[in-house]
Amino acid sequence: MKLAARVRQVSPSLTLVIAAKAKAMKAEGIDVCSFSAGEPDFDTPEHIKTAAKQALDAGKTKYGPAAGEPKLRAAIARKLRTDNNLDYSAANVIVTNGGKHSLFNLMLALIEAGEEVIIPAPYWLSYPEMVKLAGGKPVIVQTDAQSSYKITPEQLRQAITPQTRLFVLNSPSNPTGVVYTPEEIKALAEVVVEKDILVVSDEIYEKIIYDNTQQVSIGSLGAEIFQRSIISNGFAKAYSMTGWRLGYLAGAVELIEAVTTIQGHSTSNVCTFAQYGAIAALESSQDCVEQMRQAFAQRRQVMLERLNAIPGLTCAKPDGAFYLFVNISKTNLTSLEFCDALLESHQVATIPGIAFGADDHIRLSYATDMETIEKGMERLDKFVRKGQS
Ligand code: PMP
Ligand code: GLU
Repeated sequence: MKLAARVRQVSPSLTLVIAAKAKAMKAEGIDVCSFSAGEPDFDTPEHIKTAAKQALDAGKTKYGPAAGEPKLRAAIARKLRTDNNLDYSAANVIVTNGGKHSLFNLMLALIEAGEEVIIPAPYWLSYPEMVKLAGGKPVIVQTDAQSSYKITPEQLRQAITPQTRLFVLNSPSNPTGVVYTPEEIKALAEVVVEKDILVVSDEIYEKIIYDNTQQVSIGSLGAEIFQRSIISNGFAKAYSMTGWRLGYLAGAVELIEAVTTIQGHSTSNVCTFAQYGAIAALESSQDCVEQMRQAFAQRRQVMLERLNAIPGLTCAKPDGAFYLFVNISKTNLTSLEFCDALLESHQVATIPGIAFGADDHIRLSYATDMETIEKGMERLDKFVRKGQS
């Protein structure tokens, strides 16, 4: 069948493909250690599930407004004011089917054919594909370990052309775990304002940061950058709600209205009773978020120590998210060769860096239990040593 050019130029999501393969192998009884998808292993906290169950029992089973339940939009606006120092009201917020949906809708609402979107590499694999699906042109700016995988203000300035519309900032970052300092964010904000482009800040990992790391929302740094900022966030990572499909986008009212029109003709509202779980997530104690963060912090420590003890592999300490981005260049394998061989021979699932624009790396998610981490690191060690002997 002849498919539209739009979809022919887009590749499937490797994170989802590999995670599904690892799950299928497990279902067949194969003992797989999966470090593939970035999905917390915890169940959704009980009080969030209870709120959704109560909403279901109370008959919250009908169509709702396409932009989301008014109570949830108001709760999100409150959260953005309190946590992120962003002066948004409910009209600036739309509830979406996850952070992925927020960003996809944003590209559709904003990007004209041929307009450019600046994406620092390594990047979350869906950004360039979403830009292409919207008819835009992803402009990839390469960063490396020397620059701590961060785009510099000079790199951003140089990448901007008259066609540039949007800059995608993801801090904490997937796949590197890097968190930009407040000073670095400020310097990037100055370029955005000077060149009068827009920035979308994907803050889905904002709650998962370690040690004394500070998380700053770029839009909070003054009126001029606030007008040029859009926030994308969701409930998947902080509240372990990946399967609920709940996210949000915040920005100028015209933009939110445009995205509401798109949703009005595509998905309509997000599952009504699920939205009541999200209200409970935001309005109840945040202890559950902190407990999960502490567990991730411990796992990060153990996995990083094990990993850096493997000869030929190197990995910097990430400040946030739950990924290790590991340099495999000394193995002389491409990232696909490495990940394929590791999964086939030692049943360890990881994501090839090529999916994130860095073929000399692999990504491991440590959003999994300690037993899997111990066993998986032992297998990875054996695999790498075998290749060297
Ligand atoms: N942004 C980043 C950087 C991500 O890693 C993810 C992956 N879950 C998302 C957005 C989308 O998350 P979701 O659609 O599950 O809310
Ligand atoms: N974002 C997560 C990851 O990067 C989940 C998979 C996906 O949405 O692509 O692994």
